[in-house]
Amino acid sequence: MKSETIQRYIHGDTSIIVSSLHGICEEIANNQGISANGDYLSLGTAAAFTAALAAEQKENETYLTACFKWARTGKSIAVTAFGDGRMCAYIETSEPVKEADNTILEVTRHSDVGGEYVSVVVGKNVQGTINAYISESMQRNAKWKAIRDGKTTIGVFVQELPGATDLRQTWEDIKPFFKTLDDGELIKAGCEKLGERELKFGCHCSRRSAQKILETLPVSERESLGKTAEIVCKFCGKKYEIENE
Ligand SMILES: [Zn+2]
Repeated sequence: MKSETIQRYIHGDTSIIVSSLHGICEEIANNQGISANGDYLSLGTAAAFTAALAAEQKENETYLTACFKWARTGKSIAVTAFGDGRMCAYIETSEPVKEADNTILEVTRHSDVGGEYVSVVVGKNVQGTINAYISESMQRNAKWKAIRDGKTTIGVFVQELPGATDLRQTWEDIKPFFKTLDDGELIKAGCEKLGERELKFGCHCSRRSAQKILETLPVSERESLGKTAEIVCKFCGKKYEIENE
């Protein structure tokens, strides 16, 4: 199937969201200086999952951020996705936690009235945290799978609509797609296509958000910055010159 797309299907009373990313992950990897293969794979899965979550955002949400953290390595990958298909991400490493082997998933939903809703789940690995998020936070009967095709990541998110009981059957029916990755297979399996949207790299930063970051710094740090402070967006690398007074 075409990459940089998100597709929505319905099969009986079960909804299917299929995300496919390649170019966006390449761009993020370049921006963030990722070269390790394992990091690239983790980024692909994180991005495919976040795109699927954003595809069914609640009405008043502007964007959401899913941040995966690996306690043992201290690495974290945060992906932001908007309902309109824009996505960006950053990767950073903080102090590792010795002897911890958990993965943490923190999902922040940003609403247009300025509020944030954060939920945190813990699992053994990326798949484990996604499963925990689906059952504990979303409280849905749903299944998630990420499939790798070279440098492309395909994410499949299948969830029962309220009152439905056909998740297992739908999963069985669409299994041929997991092998061929030809979206015609989904139609053959009885899925009805509801829509398709293009995904593209795009950031949510602005002069205002840079100003906010500066305002939240401790006074001692602000004083050391001089008359104008340069704030660099960690998602896209864009630089903002902000007056520091
Ligand atoms: Zn930015």
